[in-house]
Amino acid sequence: MVFLNLSWRQRAGCRGVDPDVFYPTSDEEAAAAKSICAQCPVLQPCLEYALANRERDGVWGGATERERRRMVRQRRKSA
Ligand code: SF4
Repeated sequence: MVFLNLSWRQRAGCRGVDPDVFYPTSDEEAAAAKSICAQCPVLQPCLEYALANRERDGVWGGATERERRRMVRQRRKSA
């Protein structure tokens, strides 16, 4: 069983924001979510959670699906 510390979610900058904002239909529409993430105090743990759990949909940690896939590939190359 993998222990996941999710306490960062309690400080999430997106709490109370319409979830649809974080599930844009294109990368161009992700700007609103990314601007909220940029001010979020838990951006890094959120991003790491999404990368570790291969979250496929939406903006997490200020990154779109495409951007997270790129990060995973880069980490694999440098591992
Ligand atoms: S980084 Fe973005 S998606 Fe993650 S908790 Fe903060 S506001 Fe929400």
